[in-house]
Amino acid sequence: MGGATLLKETGPREVFCGLTSIVWLHRRMPDAFFLVVGSRTCAHLIQSAAGVMIFAEPRFGTAILEERDLAGLADAHEELDRVVKDLLARRPEIRTLFLVGSCPSEVIKIDLARVAERLNGELEGRVRVLNYSGSGIETTFTQGEDGALKALVPLMPNSQENQLLLVGTLANPVEDRLTKLFKRIGIEKINSFPPRQSIDLPAIGPGTKVLLTQPYLTDTARVLKDRGAEIIKAPFPLGIEGSRLWMEAAANSFGINKSLVESTLSPLIVRSRKALEPYKEMLAGKRLFLLPESQLEIPLARFLHDECGMEIVEVGVPYLNRDLMQAELDLLPQETVVVEGQHVEKQLDRVREKNPDLVVCGMGLANPLEAEGISTKWSIELVFSPIHGIDQAADLAELFSRPLHRRNLLTQKHLVQV
Ligand code: SF4
Repeated sequence: MGGATLLKETGPREVFCGLTSIVWLHRRMPDAFFLVVGSRTCAHLIQSAAGVMIFAEPRFGTAILEERDLAGLADAHEELDRVVKDLLARRPEIRTLFLVGSCPSEVIKIDLARVAERLNGELEGRVRVLNYSGSGIETTFTQGEDGALKALVPLMPNSQENQLLLVGTLANPVEDRLTKLFKRIGIEKINSFPPRQSIDLPAIGPGTKVLLTQPYLTDTARVLKDRGAEIIKAPFPLGIEGSRLWMEAAANSFGINKSLVESTLSPLIVRSRKALEPYKEMLAGKRLFLLPESQLEIPLARFLHDECGMEIVEVGVPYLNRDLMQAELDLLPQETVVVEGQHVEKQLDRVREKNPDLVVCGMGLANPLEAEGISTKWSIELVFSPIHGIDQAADLAELFSRPLHRRNLLTQKHLVQV
């Protein structure tokens, strides 16, 4: 086990639910549609989280079931069938339909796996219907992506071919840059999952080496392993060092010489270190508290400490997969406190007591903390921003220096007024 101190906490939580990941998944796979089977609350969440899509033809919707009398479940099934058939008649371009479960009790009563199976039988050849849960009772927001990808795995064809499979949604330009780098070090066959079209699923099998791009894909990694793929153990590609070690681990598993990786990455590293300097000046010595939400917290803490000089007060994670996270835990400084789970009241008490310079947290906690004079960074911004890879390190650091810069400006303004 690494140098960090691992603790667990249970109690009230304050995190987004798994429905939120629809916002980046529907952008990644434009031929897929995400139909939330839920309440008006679910519809509001997804509409406001995806507010930027308001003028575009949305690829998500909500079948609102809460107002029906579900004493007879047949009603709910009929209603769902009607919504799905209307949708498919209006939107012939949909090739994969995800039925996404939520937490209202009316929805929990419906067996969405059976609904998907029945609809698949009726709609065979027209569209593939899958289901997963985005319920706030079972999932935090990035776990929605894990559920969607896990649901796709059984549809992936078999292959014995050797390949590198990048698993986890990346911004398309970031994916292109990383793929180019892997090709330059001699890895010929590279695929990504999820693909850019839901029907272009890569084939997998014993020749597949999986390199996770995101730390929250526990279930997906497990089912890929069950299909014969090997999961490469590595830190995650955040920051210069994390990205370098991530690429090195992939190269190593393909038997590629480390010196070739070094010579390929070296100019990139020099450039990125220079770009990082101004943010490092702003961040060095500042005290950081990460509240649990995205599961990106441990790699972020590692980057902000090692490469930006921040002092880590506490790292909260909603869920800790020690196996997938071991390489990251090993890189954390010896005394780092990592708390899995959440008791939001106790955690907020610790924030107030320790009075950090910056808190990474969900949107619901950010405003109250700001009102108390504590600078915050929304963790949801990190999943919407292209932050992966060596050349994104400065942009990643900039996301954290921005609230500190804003606080400085406000303090100066206040001093001038006084
Ligand atoms: S799934 Fe549950 S937590 Fe998420 S928006 Fe719907 S009701 Fe709220």
